[in-house]
Amino acid sequence: MSRVIEQLAELTGFRDRDVLDVSLVGALMDLLQPEALGIYRVVGEDPDRCWLTRAYMRRGDTTATADPLWAEPGSLPSLDSMPERLACLRSQEADETPGPPSVARFPMVTEWQAVGVLEITSKLPLTAENLRLVGSILRIYRNFQSLLDYSERDTLTGLLNRKTFDDGFLRVATRQAQTPVRADGREGAGQRRPAQGDALWLAVIDIDHFKRVNDAFGHLIGDEVLLLLLSRLMRSSFRFHDHLYRFGGEEFVVLMCCSDADAAMTALQRLRQNVQAYRFPQVEHITVSVGCTALRVGDTPNAAFERADQALYHVKQNGRNQVADHGRLVALGQLSETAHDSDIEMF
Ligand code: GH3
Ligand code: MG
Ligand code: MG
Repeated sequence: MSRVIEQLAELTGFRDRDVLDVSLVGALMDLLQPEALGIYRVVGEDPDRCWLTRAYMRRGDTTATADPLWAEPGSLPSLDSMPERLACLRSQEADETPGPPSVARFPMVTEWQAVGVLEITSKLPLTAENLRLVGSILRIYRNFQSLLDYSERDTLTGLLNRKTFDDGFLRVATRQAQTPVRADGREGAGQRRPAQGDALWLAVIDIDHFKRVNDAFGHLIGDEVLLLLLSRLMRSSFRFHDHLYRFGGEEFVVLMCCSDADAAMTALQRLRQNVQAYRFPQVEHITVSVGCTALRVGDTPNAAFERADQALYHVKQNGRNQVADHGRLVALGQLSETAHDSDIEMF
């Protein structure tokens, strides 16, 4: 019993979601000693949804392995390729395939939906007591995640809130240069860093003429646009691991990893086009303007945000409904580097 409590205390000590699944796998491995344990999350959009391995450990492993944070959806197994796992996700019921080896599956659920599956492979089926233990630990885990959501997410859109931006920025910026993490989650687990040449990009997105929407249709309809725009369009335009923030009223920030400037522009143009093409109730059509920048070595959250914001301002002055890259505008002589931009601040 005391080991269970110790593991729970350890688990709920983490605030970084990327480490939580790894530490959950480590804790269950220690408690149950099965042959293998894995947590698989659903990523992507229909019809291309697939399984991302968040953490996987075999007996005797000292570290968990995981798919890279910025995995291309095409490189991951499709949902259909794992029918038993998919059945568990859909039914939201724990089940066990008799062995040997036997595989117990538990749905990982949030308040609204099943988001993944925990799989435990062992020589013998789990005892009724261990099945209950895993169920209880998953409930505590879920409650803990809800608490994190409550403090870190914007209530209207469910996106990350502004106060988590600095931490998130520093975490992804430093993770790029990090070595793999240990299974206890203390230093960054088996998660491969982005491929050579990948860069982090920060984009600021602002709805065009949003005051007019509020003036013509009222704040409630305005809020509905924000909800639809964000919960649907932004999530479907970016990847699972891109960080999406609601920064201010109708201003949003995306932090993403792209292979090069073209890939970043493609992702942002896709969002811009998706918004333009979407038919909103009553309001019909709206557009967004986007400013972006590649992160630099030693960048601070503030400096990077300001560069993207300058590019956004340029778009607002030049017709809106476009995407502009700060670096490119400077290269073209349409923007100048401010003292702040070239001032490299170390963190
Ligand atoms: P621009 O194209 O220059 O961005 O024009 P804009 O009208 O969108 O101007 P700006 O971005 O400066 O103003 C934001 C407006 O968005 C002000 C306010 O009416 C509206 N707004 C901000 N937050 C919210 C919100 O939470 N809900 C709603 N409904 N409206 C908001
Ligand atoms: Mg605006
Ligand atoms: Mg604005």
